[in-house]
Amino acid sequence: RNDHFYRDSWVEINLDHVEYNIKQLAAHIGEDKGIYGVVKANAYGHGYVQVAQTALDAGAQALAVAFLDEALHLRKNGVHAAILVLGATRPEDAAIAADHDISLTFYRKDWLEAVRTQRFRKPLQLHMKLDTGMGRLGFRTEEEIHAALPLLDVPSLHLEGVYTHFATADDADLAYFEGQRSKFDKLYKSLQKAWPHPLIVHSDNSAASMRFAADESDFVRFGIGMYGLYPSKIVKEEHPIALRQAFSLHSKLVHVKQLEAHEAVSYGATYETNKAEWIGTLPIGYADGWIRKMQGFEVLVEGKRMPIVGRVCMDQCMVKLDKAYPNGTEVVLIGMQQNAFISMDEVADWIDTINYEVPCLIAARMPRVYK
Ligand code: PLP
Repeated sequence: RNDHFYRDSWVEINLDHVEYNIKQLAAHIGEDKGIYGVVKANAYGHGYVQVAQTALDAGAQALAVAFLDEALHLRKNGVHAAILVLGATRPEDAAIAADHDISLTFYRKDWLEAVRTQRFRKPLQLHMKLDTGMGRLGFRTEEEIHAALPLLDVPSLHLEGVYTHFATADDADLAYFEGQRSKFDKLYKSLQKAWPHPLIVHSDNSAASMRFAADESDFVRFGIGMYGLYPSKIVKEEHPIALRQAFSLHSKLVHVKQLEAHEAVSYGATYETNKAEWIGTLPIGYADGWIRKMQGFEVLVEGKRMPIVGRVCMDQCMVKLDKAYPNGTEVVLIGMQQNAFISMDEVADWIDTINYEVPCLIAARMPRVYK
């Protein structure tokens, strides 16, 4: 078991929900399309290896990460599936990728010039990234693409795929998205003429893959939806497929006491009781990613909401209780308790961010337990 830890705060990852979410998407997009499970950033804070293995078992054919380090971490932990690095890799690190059968993304001609002269033990698998409006990485014009293609004509390099990334696939207004899609079609057709070899074509993220009917691509890149979260409020309302949140955050009351009226709680003494109040201490704080902005938010105790009072400390915070509870009572900070639920979206709204950021914020110090 991987849940030996000596503190009363932990994350639970429900891998059955990851499996459910992948199967929902697979049924939705049909058998002709493959799925890259996007497991960058420690699988959006859920755990690289456990999520990767679950995604593959549930029907994802391949994985995608942001950096070569992440792909190597998966290889070192026994993941043998195809892995694509979506972000930038230094040309001098290409041999490491080739050695470990890790596919890299390229988006500049000079990068190809730097790798095509190198010797690899096995051909390096490459995906060409096209920038159709994200403004981040990618070839932007037909001219740029055609100038790069001849550099691929060496046995050490193999062009495996071509892709783009959408900036607004989760919006209500789809004009920009449609523009990106038609630009991708145009660039891809032009590429195909000059390079008549089979390629894996992929463009859809969670939003696009859940919302829009089949296009000509072969794979989708499924990130946030795999974790049971909708990419935006619009997509959540549209509810194209059912998803189940995989991540929950738990703690226990480690010290319950009654304060008199007009006593204060935590740094700065900013919270003052106005009558005798039960206050409970939780062993989780901003160093765990439960940031100071969480002050005033609520947690669940016996399925009831109780407010976080006073400043959140580095390793602890305090909650105001409606009565005395035994020390050791379980508290849910994100997730379900009895019939009550605190969603990732609610936490994200409280701290003025998107649901993607919340599990990424929960620190490595916080143990992850897998169910
Ligand atoms: N593809 C690329 C290139 C990405 O950067 C990301 C994540 O941001 C994804 C796919 C997955 O996106 P989502 O989590 O919205 O499915």
